[in-house]
Amino acid sequence: MAKLEFIKKIEISPDIYSFIFKCPKDFKWIAGQFIQITLLHENFDDRGVKRYFSIASAPFEKIIMLATRIELQNSSSFKKAFYNLKPGTIIESTDPKGKFIIEKQDKKIIFIAGGIGITPVRSIIFDLNHKDKLKNVDLLYSNRDGNIPFKTEIEDIKKKNSSFNIYYFLSPNIISEETLNKIYIRFPDSCTYISGPPAMVSGISDLIISKGINKNDIKTDYFPGY
Ligand SMILES: Cc1cc2nc3c(=O)[nH]c(=O)nc-3n(C[C@H](O)[C@H](O)[C@H](O)COP(=O)(O)OP(=O)(O)OC[C@H]3O[C@@H](n4cnc5c(N)ncnc54)[C@H](O)[C@@H]3O)c2cc1C
Repeated sequence: MAKLEFIKKIEISPDIYSFIFKCPKDFKWIAGQFIQITLLHENFDDRGVKRYFSIASAPFEKIIMLATRIELQNSSSFKKAFYNLKPGTIIESTDPKGKFIIEKQDKKIIFIAGGIGITPVRSIIFDLNHKDKLKNVDLLYSNRDGNIPFKTEIEDIKKKNSSFNIYYFLSPNIISEETLNKIYIRFPDSCTYISGPPAMVSGISDLIISKGINKNDIKTDYFPGY
């Protein structure tokens, strides 16, 4: 368990906010991991006071950044309370965990992220860049519109890494079977990280398994509620 002190929130694109917390001295995580935070608030709804969030910052950044979509009219009581969090408030968090991490980097890496599913991927990309290991990496990023969270900062990283490629898929364009065919014909021996809405993650995962990609070469992070 850890206690995290809230510093500030930033609207990073319309209805998407990043929440910055101080990083306690003994708080360690591996890029791509998540925490569960508890946000006590009055009159909470039936979804309660706890939520999982991937840590969007990389360990070297020395802050804990979470990011989420909040559409205030349709939000859970949790998201409303999160939105109204006052700087200096201390919240409780579990220790970071999760297997959506780079264990070994011996193959091409393909990240497939949908919407706010970019959070763990941002952490990993920043971490790899920091370690000068952002080599042979593709990011396929789908979003409901052109307001793409973290676009500018990820593109800044791209400018310094010639073998890091970004492909955007903005609604109504989706990451289609045709697109996946083209990629996996070129890179059959790759490791894929898929993160975002559950239907997207399981759909793409099933599809690429049906094309012969080994299950062990796919890591998934499901974001329920999207
Ligand atoms: C490992 C992990 C990592 C995650 N990382 C992130 C992250 O980095 N950022 C992030 O935003 N989310 C992340 N999530 C998802 C997050 O925990 C919430 O489930 C999500 O943000 C929805 O929040 P909310 O329930 O407060 O709903 P809101 O976003 O306030 O709700 C939006 C709409 O969805 C509906 N809805 C939401 N949840 C449900 C449900 N369970 N059943 C039915 N309807 C529902 C609501 O009724 C509402 O209409 C992660 C989840 C996991 C398991």
